[in-house]
Amino acid sequence: MQQPVSDLIDPFGRRVDYLRVSVTDRCDFRCVYCMSGDMTFLPHSDLLTLEELDRLCGAFIRRGVRRIRVSGGEPLVRRGIMALFRSLRAYLDDGRLEEVTLTTNGSQLARFAGELADCGVRRINVSLDSLDAEKFRVITRTGSLDKVLAGIDAAVCAGLKVKINTVALREVNEFEIEDILAWAHGRGFDLTLIETMPLGEIDGDRLAQYLPLSEMRARLARRFTLDDTAYRTGGPARYVTVRETGGRLGFITPMTHNFCESCNRVRVTCTGTVYMCLGQEDRVDLRAPLRASEGDALLDAAILKAIARKPRGHDFVIDRAGLPSMKGRHMNVTGG
Ligand code: SAM
Ligand code: SF4
Repeated sequence: MQQPVSDLIDPFGRRVDYLRVSVTDRCDFRCVYCMSGDMTFLPHSDLLTLEELDRLCGAFIRRGVRRIRVSGGEPLVRRGIMALFRSLRAYLDDGRLEEVTLTTNGSQLARFAGELADCGVRRINVSLDSLDAEKFRVITRTGSLDKVLAGIDAAVCAGLKVKINTVALREVNEFEIEDILAWAHGRGFDLTLIETMPLGEIDGDRLAQYLPLSEMRARLARRFTLDDTAYRTGGPARYVTVRETGGRLGFITPMTHNFCESCNRVRVTCTGTVYMCLGQEDRVDLRAPLRASEGDALLDAAILKAIARKPRGHDFVIDRAGLPSMKGRHMNVTGG
């Protein structure tokens, strides 16, 4: 079946055909830039069931969403999550979805990579902020580098295309980025560097962690030849090709270069709240309309209401004058 183009068009003429779904706020890691050390997670009763998540994805797909990224929290720690991937597979099979992707910390990949591939997932993003086991533990607070590397191996074995995401952190991994780049490209993985965004309270000082990627790029350019490329994945990353490795390097720079003008996505939390912009508080509840009736008319109306309120862009700011734009919500709630 061929799907018509999305009729989800926002007030600025941007066609929304990409949905990111956070399936849980829980995670087995506590990355220092993402969470505090003692997080309180949502009670299970607040979460959409897997059937509700499937119905919600179905409603977006009917309106023309073509790509879905499953995220979290750590999506692979949600019990029974493969059931959602299995039901999304039907949309891939009949052509209504172009792709289903996953963003994961990799800790459970050794167990799930094969099944993900069977469900039609072709590429995944794995977050990895250090190749030093001790530093990896410090950044994630609870994670094991060996387990993640084994997960990445399993993904490769299963035929999944892996992209590595690395958050650049001042004085934490900034001097390791060149090694991560060489390792990733050596294994045939694209690498995307991400600037920290001011999402949610953490224990550390965000300003101290923040490393503008313009600075990182200038440093990398001293060792590597970075050729600009028009390559895009439909996401916010801007890519260069590294001449010495032949690999691709992406930069996601919400702070130094706002990427809002081409934003084609909305995000749904695990409680069924749709955020029209990662960097704005405005949101629309989809759980109540979802639960109010078995038909999807109310849900559809709520989705249209949300798209009609998609803002032009975010207003993140990190500065010394009190972090005026600090968002109350952590990244694990909205899904990265
Ligand atoms: N747990 C999975 C993972 O880490 O890949 C999926 C969810 S995580 C929230 C998605 C992405 O957001 C990860 O690449 C993570 O590094 C990134 N992230 C989390 N908090 C962030 C922040 N405050 N600023 C920038 N990126 C962040
Ligand atoms: Fe968990 Fe991902 Fe947040 Fe790290 S970045 S704490 S792995 S949700």
